[in-house]
Amino acid sequence: MVDQVIEVANKVVASGAISANGHGNVSLRVPGGDEMYFTGGPSLRNHLPEAVVRVALDGTLREGRLPPIQAAVVAMHTALYADRADIGCVLHTHSPFATAFAVARRPIGCWIEALAMFGLPDGVPVASYGPRGSEHAVANIRAAIVPGVPALLLANHGVLLFHRTPELAVMIGAVVEEAAQAAINAVGLGGAVEIPEDMKAAALQRAMAFEHRGTAHT
Ligand SMILES: [Zn+2]
Repeated sequence: MVDQVIEVANKVVASGAISANGHGNVSLRVPGGDEMYFTGGPSLRNHLPEAVVRVALDGTLREGRLPPIQAAVVAMHTALYADRADIGCVLHTHSPFATAFAVARRPIGCWIEALAMFGLPDGVPVASYGPRGSEHAVANIRAAIVPGVPALLLANHGVLLFHRTPELAVMIGAVVEEAAQAAINAVGLGGAVEIPEDMKAAALQRAMAFEHRGTAHT
């Protein structure tokens, strides 16, 4: 699974939803196990396979070397796996536009259709601030999670994404960043406007209908 973790880290970087220094972490749950693989390196850019570690969901390091600065955020990942059997991948980044909302402690609204289509019709909520990876921060994350919503802003810190598969988690990270960027660009034009409730449902239904019958144009 180490290669898979590196592949996901590279996909996060390729998506562009990451800060210039590449800060962030990727973890993958070991299917059917009580552990995860986790990026122990300081940056997701050019992350080395030998810096990937294996950690039990109780936080015990099982394989590899984990620097203290990275160990501090492990609980953010393990808590999600421990609480939710459906989660297979957790990503954390400081993607710049979404992080702007996180530092402003403002939720991201459903300003672009993709958010409605991918399970975020009410946008992305904000978890209150606690020192990164602390019990306080993890409790705030648990309190802010909305069932079915695969993303969270971490106040004064960054973004947390969690989904069944790494592909979905990476995609949601890119969609959240895109919505945040568009909203910031729209400030000079009067600000982003929320999609009306009935249209959010319509966007989701249309996406599901296309998924059902394929996306070929007729
Ligand atoms: Zn961080």
